[in-house]
Amino acid sequence: MNRGSPVELPEEYLDFYKNLETWQNEQQIRLQKDFAPRQLSNPRALIAEQKKPLLIIEKWEIDPEQYRTVFSALLEFMLETRPELKDTLEDVKVKTQNLDFSPYIKDFLNDHLSTLAALAQEYKISQELLVFLFDHSIRPFLRLYALPYQEELREETFQHWDFPNICPVCGSKSHFSRLRPADNHRFMFCDRCFTEWESRYLLCVHCGNDTPGTIYYRSVENDDAYRIYTCEKCKGYLKTYDEKSGGSTIDLFIANIETIYLDMLAQEQGYTNHD
Ligand SMILES: [Zn+2]
Ligand SMILES: [Zn+2]
Repeated sequence: MNRGSPVELPEEYLDFYKNLETWQNEQQIRLQKDFAPRQLSNPRALIAEQKKPLLIIEKWEIDPEQYRTVFSALLEFMLETRPELKDTLEDVKVKTQNLDFSPYIKDFLNDHLSTLAALAQEYKISQELLVFLFDHSIRPFLRLYALPYQEELREETFQHWDFPNICPVCGSKSHFSRLRPADNHRFMFCDRCFTEWESRYLLCVHCGNDTPGTIYYRSVENDDAYRIYTCEKCKGYLKTYDEKSGGSTIDLFIANIETIYLDMLAQEQGYTNHD
């Protein structure tokens, strides 16, 4: 069921992401046993001063052998859930058996995707698939890393963090926010590490525009909970869930995927998420 959606998403598509999220939760619980990230003190001051996400400030590294285990487990998960990709996945499995993951993890965390692009070319597989595999096997690590900071960095983040659409913990770009019902405060959501951080309500998270009358919101008929906020200055848009209209909290990771129709609506009308 897609709420008021002009685009019917196949049920299997959503199921795949729901299962992937469950799988990631399980991996996170498993990793928790032998992985305790160091906790930097005063993260608010650190990000304000250095203007970089915590993970980059700390030059955080993931143990490549722990990572290999999760990467292999993701391949198994994919073999089960996406049997049509069997040949390609088996091929990746053989080719990555002795791969030194360290430089690729490092480049991925620093958003340098050119080395992964080169690896995809060498493996003769699509870059999209290889990036997907890295992205989703890194997430259980990122979520564990982010956990100790999430509470401290949530409220009034805009007071000390200048990049409203970038996650202050892992540096990923966010395309989704929620409005808290009690006070209408906006919280950006990172679907990689699950951190939330507050940005100002009347502000384009892409260009910083806050001129009244240049930021609008629209929703699809009969469903005011799921909205896009658009900026007339940079033509950017942001998907948002209004908890007051929606009446409950939701899984923001799934909501972001479920609302592809809002991306289509925004893009049809000439807006972009600046990716
Ligand atoms: Zn993040
Ligand atoms: Zn803008």
